[in-house]
Amino acid sequence: MEITGVETYTLHLPIDRTVGDSRLAIDDMYPVVVEIETDEGYTGTGWMGSLGFAPDLLERFVDSQFTDLLVGRDPFATEAIRERLRTQTIYYGELGMSAWPRGAIDVALWDIKAQAAGQPLYKLLGGEDDSVQAYASSMDSHHELDELADLHGSFADQGFTAFKTKVGDKPASEEARRIKEIREAVGDDAEIFVDANQAWTVKEAISTVRELEPHGIGWVEEPISEFDHAGHERVAAAIEPPLATGEMVNRPEQFEHLLERGGMEVAQPDLIRAGGITGQTAVARLAATHNVPLATHFYYVLSAHVVSAAPTGWIVEYIPEYDVGPLLDPEPVVEDGRVHLPDEPGHGYRIDPDAKAEHLVTFD
Ligand SMILES: [Mg+2]
Repeated sequence: MEITGVETYTLHLPIDRTVGDSRLAIDDMYPVVVEIETDEGYTGTGWMGSLGFAPDLLERFVDSQFTDLLVGRDPFATEAIRERLRTQTIYYGELGMSAWPRGAIDVALWDIKAQAAGQPLYKLLGGEDDSVQAYASSMDSHHELDELADLHGSFADQGFTAFKTKVGDKPASEEARRIKEIREAVGDDAEIFVDANQAWTVKEAISTVRELEPHGIGWVEEPISEFDHAGHERVAAAIEPPLATGEMVNRPEQFEHLLERGGMEVAQPDLIRAGGITGQTAVARLAATHNVPLATHFYYVLSAHVVSAAPTGWIVEYIPEYDVGPLLDPEPVVEDGRVHLPDEPGHGYRIDPDAKAEHLVTFD
Protein backbone atom coordinates (compact mmCIF):
# COMPACT_ATOMS: atom_id res chain seq x y z
CA MET A 1 0.00 0.00 0.00
CA GLU A 2 1.16 3.52 -0.70
CA ILE A 3 0.30 6.93 0.69
CA THR A 4 -1.02 9.09 -2.14
CA GLY A 5 -1.94 12.33 -0.43
CA VAL A 6 -2.20 14.28 2.82
CA GLU A 7 -4.90 16.83 3.54
CA THR A 8 -4.70 19.18 6.50
CA TYR A 9 -7.41 21.55 7.68
CA THR A 10 -8.60 23.35 10.77
CA LEU A 11 -12.05 23.41 12.36
CA HIS A 12 -13.38 25.96 14.83
CA LEU A 13 -15.43 24.79 17.79
CA PRO A 14 -16.66 27.74 19.86
CA ILE A 15 -17.12 27.18 23.61
CA ASP A 16 -20.28 28.70 25.03
CA ARG A 17 -18.51 30.32 27.97
CA THR A 18 -14.97 31.13 29.06
CA VAL A 19 -13.37 28.10 30.67
CA GLY A 20 -9.90 27.48 31.98
CA ASP A 21 -7.43 26.29 34.56
CA SER A 22 -4.75 27.82 36.78
CA ARG A 23 -2.92 29.13 33.70
CA LEU A 24 -5.41 29.63 30.88
CA ALA A 25 -8.72 31.19 29.91
CA ILE A 26 -10.18 29.57 26.77
CA ASP A 27 -13.08 30.54 24.51
CA ASP A 28 -12.42 28.48 21.40
CA MET A 29 -11.15 25.09 20.39
CA TYR A 30 -9.44 24.49 17.03
CA PRO A 31 -8.94 20.85 16.05
CA VAL A 32 -6.33 20.63 13.29
CA VAL A 33 -7.15 17.55 11.20
CA VAL A 34 -4.75 15.40 9.19
CA GLU A 35 -6.22 13.00 6.64
CA ILE A 36 -3.90 10.55 4.89
CA GLU A 37 -5.05 8.91 1.67
CA THR A 38 -3.82 5.67 0.13
CA ASP A 39 -3.88 3.92 -3.22
CA GLU A 40 -6.07 1.16 -1.76
CA GLY A 41 -8.91 3.48 -0.85
CA TYR A 42 -8.27 3.74 2.88
CA THR A 43 -8.18 7.19 4.44
CA GLY A 44 -6.74 7.62 7.92
CA THR A 45 -7.81 10.48 10.18
CA GLY A 46 -5.88 12.11 13.00
CA TRP A 47 -6.29 15.44 14.76
CA MET A 48 -4.55 17.82 17.14
CA GLY A 49 -6.66 19.62 19.74
CA SER A 50 -5.30 23.13 19.52
CA LEU A 51 -6.95 25.49 22.00
CA GLY A 52 -6.52 28.45 19.71
CA PHE A 53 -2.74 28.59 19.98
CA ALA A 54 -1.47 28.96 16.43
CA PRO A 55 -3.54 26.29 14.67
CA ASP A 56 -2.38 27.88 11.41
CA LEU A 57 1.22 26.99 12.25
CA LEU A 58 0.29 23.40 13.06
CA GLU A 59 -1.53 23.10 9.76
CA ARG A 60 1.35 24.60 7.82
CA PHE A 61 3.87 22.44 9.67
CA VAL A 62 2.25 19.35 8.16
CA ASP A 63 1.97 20.85 4.69
CA SER A 64 5.48 22.28 4.50
CA GLN A 65 7.51 19.70 6.43
CA PHE A 66 5.78 16.35 6.29
CA THR A 67 3.51 15.86 3.28
CA ASP A 68 6.35 15.28 0.81
CA LEU A 69 7.98 12.83 3.22
CA LEU A 70 4.77 10.81 3.52
CA VAL A 71 3.61 10.52 -0.07
CA GLY A 72 4.84 7.29 -1.67
CA ARG A 73 5.54 5.53 1.63
CA ASP A 74 3.87 2.42 3.02
CA PRO A 75 1.47 3.46 5.81
CA PHE A 76 2.30 0.25 7.70
CA ALA A 77 5.85 1.55 8.27
CA THR A 78 4.84 3.54 11.35
CA GLU A 79 8.18 3.14 13.16
CA ALA A 80 10.26 4.07 10.11
CA ILE A 81 8.02 7.02 9.27
CA ARG A 82 8.06 8.19 12.87
CA GLU A 83 11.86 8.24 12.88
CA ARG A 84 12.08 10.04 9.52
CA LEU A 85 9.64 12.74 10.65
CA ARG A 86 11.52 13.10 13.93
CA THR A 87 14.80 13.82 12.19
CA GLN A 88 13.02 16.30 9.93
CA THR A 89 12.02 18.42 12.93
CA ILE A 90 15.16 18.14 15.05
CA TYR A 91 16.30 21.56 13.85
CA TYR A 92 13.27 23.18 15.51
CA GLY A 93 13.67 21.20 18.69
CA GLU A 94 12.22 17.74 18.64
CA LEU A 95 9.53 18.43 21.24
CA GLY A 96 6.90 21.11 21.66
CA MET A 97 4.93 22.26 18.64
CA SER A 98 6.87 20.16 16.14
CA ALA A 99 5.82 17.00 18.02
CA TRP A 100 2.12 17.68 17.50
CA PRO A 101 1.83 17.03 13.76
CA ARG A 102 3.92 13.87 14.14
CA GLY A 103 1.46 12.61 16.75
CA ALA A 104 -1.60 13.29 14.57
CA ILE A 105 0.08 11.67 11.55
CA ASP A 106 0.82 8.54 13.59
CA VAL A 107 -2.86 8.34 14.61
CA ALA A 108 -3.94 8.56 10.96
CA LEU A 109 -1.48 5.83 9.97
CA TRP A 110 -2.76 3.49 12.70
CA ASP A 111 -6.29 4.22 11.52
CA ILE A 112 -5.26 2.99 8.06
CA LYS A 113 -3.48 -0.07 9.46
CA ALA A 114 -6.52 -1.11 11.48
CA GLN A 115 -8.88 -0.51 8.55
CA ALA A 116 -6.69 -2.65 6.30
CA ALA A 117 -6.58 -5.36 8.98
CA GLY A 118 -10.39 -5.25 9.16
CA GLN A 119 -10.15 -4.73 12.93
CA PRO A 120 -11.17 -2.02 15.39
CA LEU A 121 -7.97 -0.33 16.52
CA TYR A 122 -8.22 -1.53 20.14
CA LYS A 123 -8.31 -5.13 18.91
CA LEU A 124 -5.33 -4.61 16.62
CA LEU A 125 -3.47 -3.23 19.66
CA GLY A 126 -4.34 -6.39 21.56
CA GLY A 127 -7.33 -5.15 23.52
CA GLU A 128 -10.57 -6.90 24.28
CA ASP A 129 -12.83 -4.51 26.20
CA ASP A 130 -15.13 -2.54 23.91
CA SER A 131 -15.75 0.18 26.48
CA VAL A 132 -13.50 2.19 28.78
CA GLN A 133 -14.30 4.19 31.91
CA ALA A 134 -14.28 7.95 31.46
CA TYR A 135 -14.21 10.77 33.98
CA ALA A 136 -15.90 14.12 33.57
CA SER A 137 -13.13 16.68 33.53
CA SER A 138 -14.14 20.29 33.70
CA MET A 139 -12.16 23.42 32.91
CA ASP A 140 -13.97 25.00 35.83
CA SER A 141 -11.47 27.46 37.33
CA HIS A 142 -13.66 30.38 36.29
CA HIS A 143 -16.88 28.89 37.65
CA GLU A 144 -18.27 30.50 40.76
CA LEU A 145 -18.83 28.35 43.83
CA ASP A 146 -22.56 28.06 43.24
CA GLU A 147 -22.02 26.93 39.63
CA LEU A 148 -19.76 24.05 40.61
CA ALA A 149 -22.43 21.93 42.25
CA ASP A 150 -24.74 22.32 39.24
CA LEU A 151 -21.97 21.49 36.80
CA HIS A 152 -20.63 18.38 38.49
CA GLY A 153 -24.10 17.32 39.59
CA SER A 154 -25.15 17.36 35.94
CA PHE A 155 -22.21 15.06 35.10
CA ALA A 156 -23.34 12.71 37.88
CA ASP A 157 -26.85 12.74 36.41
CA GLN A 158 -25.33 11.62 33.08
CA GLY A 159 -23.87 8.58 34.82
CA PHE A 160 -20.29 9.64 35.54
CA THR A 161 -18.82 8.40 38.82
CA ALA A 162 -15.44 10.16 38.54
CA PHE A 163 -14.89 13.90 38.23
CA LYS A 164 -12.03 16.36 37.97
CA THR A 165 -11.84 19.97 39.05
CA LYS A 166 -9.18 22.62 38.56
CA VAL A 167 -7.16 23.96 41.49
CA GLY A 168 -3.98 25.99 41.90
CA ASP A 169 -5.15 29.58 41.48
CA LYS A 170 -6.98 30.22 44.75
CA PRO A 171 -6.13 30.14 48.46
CA ALA A 172 -6.15 26.62 49.93
CA SER A 173 -9.19 27.31 52.10
CA GLU A 174 -11.16 28.39 49.04
CA GLU A 175 -10.05 25.34 47.05
CA ALA A 176 -11.22 23.16 49.95
CA ARG A 177 -14.58 24.92 49.98
CA ARG A 178 -15.01 24.27 46.25
CA ILE A 179 -14.20 20.58 46.58
CA LYS A 180 -16.62 20.26 49.49
CA GLU A 181 -19.30 21.71 47.21
CA ILE A 182 -18.53 19.19 44.48
CA ARG A 183 -18.39 16.31 46.98
CA GLU A 184 -21.88 17.17 48.19
CA ALA A 185 -23.13 17.21 44.59
CA VAL A 186 -21.60 13.90 43.46
CA GLY A 187 -21.82 11.81 46.63
CA ASP A 188 -19.38 10.06 48.95
CA ASP A 189 -18.61 7.13 46.64
CA ALA A 190 -17.53 9.24 43.65
CA GLU A 191 -13.91 9.85 42.76
CA ILE A 192 -12.85 13.52 42.73
CA PHE A 193 -9.53 14.30 41.05
CA VAL A 194 -7.82 17.71 41.30
CA ASP A 195 -5.54 19.29 38.68
CA ALA A 196 -3.21 22.20 39.49
CA ASN A 197 -1.60 22.45 36.02
CA GLN A 198 1.83 22.95 37.65
CA ALA A 199 0.78 25.98 39.68
CA TRP A 200 2.38 25.15 43.02
CA THR A 201 5.82 24.95 44.56
CA VAL A 202 6.63 21.68 46.34
CA LYS A 203 5.75 23.15 49.72
CA GLU A 204 2.55 24.77 48.46
CA ALA A 205 1.51 21.47 46.90
CA ILE A 206 2.04 19.53 50.11
CA SER A 207 0.32 22.04 52.38
CA THR A 208 -2.63 22.66 50.01
CA VAL A 209 -3.29 18.97 49.35
CA ARG A 210 -3.37 18.36 53.11
CA GLU A 211 -6.21 20.88 53.36
CA LEU A 212 -8.09 19.20 50.50
CA GLU A 213 -7.60 15.60 51.65
CA PRO A 214 -10.50 15.52 54.16
CA HIS A 215 -12.93 15.81 51.22
CA GLY A 216 -11.53 12.70 49.55
CA ILE A 217 -9.13 13.24 46.64
CA GLY A 218 -8.68 10.48 44.03
CA TRP A 219 -5.46 11.91 42.60
CA VAL A 220 -3.45 15.14 42.55
CA GLU A 221 -2.52 16.07 39.00
CA GLU A 222 0.47 18.14 37.89
CA PRO A 223 1.03 19.79 41.27
CA ILE A 224 4.39 21.31 40.29
CA SER A 225 6.59 22.07 37.29
CA GLU A 226 6.88 19.20 34.82
CA PHE A 227 10.65 19.67 34.83
CA ASP A 228 11.14 19.22 38.59
CA HIS A 229 11.42 15.44 38.80
CA ALA A 230 12.99 15.50 42.26
CA GLY A 231 10.10 17.67 43.40
CA HIS A 232 7.65 15.04 42.14
CA GLU A 233 9.33 12.49 44.39
CA ARG A 234 9.03 14.81 47.39
CA VAL A 235 5.38 15.65 46.76
CA ALA A 236 4.40 12.03 46.08
CA ALA A 237 6.08 10.89 49.28
CA ALA A 238 4.38 13.58 51.37
CA ILE A 239 0.74 13.45 50.23
CA GLU A 240 -1.83 10.73 50.66
CA PRO A 241 -3.51 10.72 47.19
CA PRO A 242 -1.56 9.39 44.19
CA LEU A 243 0.39 11.94 42.15
CA ALA A 244 -0.84 11.92 38.54
CA THR A 245 1.23 13.46 35.78
CA GLY A 246 2.53 13.07 32.23
CA GLU A 247 0.39 15.23 29.92
CA MET A 248 3.34 17.53 29.14
CA VAL A 249 5.92 14.76 28.98
CA ASN A 250 7.06 13.76 25.50
CA ARG A 251 9.92 11.30 25.63
CA PRO A 252 9.84 7.73 27.01
CA GLU A 253 13.00 8.27 29.05
CA GLN A 254 11.29 11.20 30.81
CA PHE A 255 8.39 8.92 31.72
CA GLU A 256 10.84 6.23 32.84
CA HIS A 257 12.76 8.72 34.99
CA LEU A 258 9.59 9.77 36.81
CA LEU A 259 8.15 6.26 37.06
CA GLU A 260 11.21 4.61 38.53
CA ARG A 261 11.54 7.28 41.23
CA GLY A 262 7.91 7.11 42.33
CA GLY A 263 7.12 10.59 41.01
CA MET A 264 4.38 9.37 38.65
CA GLU A 265 1.80 7.24 40.45
CA VAL A 266 -0.82 7.63 37.69
CA ALA A 267 0.53 7.92 34.12
CA GLN A 268 -1.19 10.49 31.91
CA PRO A 269 0.44 10.54 28.46
CA ASP A 270 -1.15 12.91 25.98
CA LEU A 271 -1.86 11.13 22.71
CA ILE A 272 -0.36 13.83 20.51
CA ARG A 273 2.58 15.05 22.61
CA ALA A 274 3.66 11.47 23.38
CA GLY A 275 3.77 10.56 19.68
CA GLY A 276 0.37 9.24 18.63
CA ILE A 277 -0.79 5.65 19.05
CA THR A 278 2.81 4.39 18.79
CA GLY A 279 4.08 6.75 21.50
CA GLN A 280 1.15 6.43 23.85
CA THR A 281 1.25 2.64 23.63
CA ALA A 282 4.96 2.69 24.47
CA VAL A 283 4.22 4.77 27.58
CA ALA A 284 1.37 2.40 28.48
CA ARG A 285 3.87 -0.49 28.49
CA LEU A 286 6.33 1.48 30.63
CA ALA A 287 3.58 2.31 33.11
CA ALA A 288 2.63 -1.36 33.27
CA THR A 289 6.20 -2.40 34.08
CA HIS A 290 5.96 -0.14 37.14
CA ASN A 291 2.43 -1.31 37.93
CA VAL A 292 1.19 2.26 37.50
CA PRO A 293 -2.35 2.82 36.20
CA LEU A 294 -2.81 4.53 32.83
CA ALA A 295 -5.22 7.48 32.76
CA THR A 296 -4.67 9.21 29.43
CA HIS A 297 -4.83 12.97 28.90
CA PHE A 298 -7.51 14.54 26.64
CA TYR A 299 -8.42 12.85 23.25
CA TYR A 300 -10.82 10.39 24.90
CA VAL A 301 -12.19 9.19 21.55
CA LEU A 302 -8.82 7.91 20.34
CA SER A 303 -7.02 7.17 23.60
CA ALA A 304 -9.83 4.83 24.65
CA HIS A 305 -8.40 2.34 22.14
CA VAL A 306 -4.99 2.49 23.83
CA VAL A 307 -6.46 2.28 27.34
CA SER A 308 -8.56 -0.73 26.33
CA ALA A 309 -5.43 -2.57 25.22
CA ALA A 310 -3.08 -1.41 28.01
CA PRO A 311 -2.21 -3.87 30.81
CA THR A 312 -2.85 -1.19 33.46
CA GLY A 313 -5.38 0.82 31.40
CA TRP A 314 -7.83 2.53 33.72
CA ILE A 315 -9.66 5.62 32.54
CA VAL A 316 -9.87 8.35 29.87
CA GLU A 317 -10.45 12.08 30.26
CA TYR A 318 -13.72 13.37 28.85
CA ILE A 319 -13.69 17.20 28.76
CA PRO A 320 -17.19 18.33 27.75
CA GLU A 321 -16.02 21.85 26.86
CA TYR A 322 -13.50 20.51 24.34
CA ASP A 323 -15.56 17.63 23.00
CA VAL A 324 -14.95 17.00 19.30
CA GLY A 325 -17.78 14.46 19.29
CA PRO A 326 -20.20 16.69 17.35
CA LEU A 327 -17.60 16.98 14.55
CA LEU A 328 -17.27 13.22 14.13
CA ASP A 329 -19.11 10.59 12.14
CA PRO A 330 -20.34 8.59 13.92
CA GLU A 331 -20.72 10.68 17.05
CA PRO A 332 -18.89 8.95 19.91
CA VAL A 333 -21.01 7.13 22.47
CA VAL A 334 -20.39 8.15 26.08
CA GLU A 335 -22.92 6.52 28.37
CA ASP A 336 -23.02 5.75 32.08
CA GLY A 337 -19.51 7.09 32.49
CA ARG A 338 -18.01 4.88 29.78
CA VAL A 339 -16.74 5.50 26.27
CA HIS A 340 -18.00 2.80 23.94
CA LEU A 341 -15.54 1.84 21.21
CA PRO A 342 -16.82 1.44 17.65
CA ASP A 343 -16.98 -2.02 16.14
CA GLU A 344 -15.76 -0.65 12.79
CA PRO A 345 -12.29 -1.28 11.35
CA GLY A 346 -9.86 1.53 12.23
CA HIS A 347 -10.39 3.91 15.12
CA GLY A 348 -13.91 4.19 13.80
CA TYR A 349 -14.30 7.92 13.16
CA ARG A 350 -13.98 10.41 10.36
CA ILE A 351 -14.77 14.10 10.27
CA ASP A 352 -18.44 14.55 9.41
CA PRO A 353 -18.62 16.34 6.02
CA ASP A 354 -21.46 18.63 7.13
CA ALA A 355 -19.58 19.54 10.31
CA LYS A 356 -16.47 20.22 8.25
CA ALA A 357 -18.38 22.56 5.95
CA GLU A 358 -19.85 24.39 8.92
CA HIS A 359 -16.73 24.66 11.08
CA LEU A 360 -13.90 24.98 8.57
CA VAL A 361 -11.55 27.94 9.04
CA THR A 362 -9.00 29.08 6.51
CA PHE A 363 -5.88 31.14 7.07
CA ASP A 364 -4.39 33.83 4.88
MG1 LIG B 1 -4.26 18.16 33.37
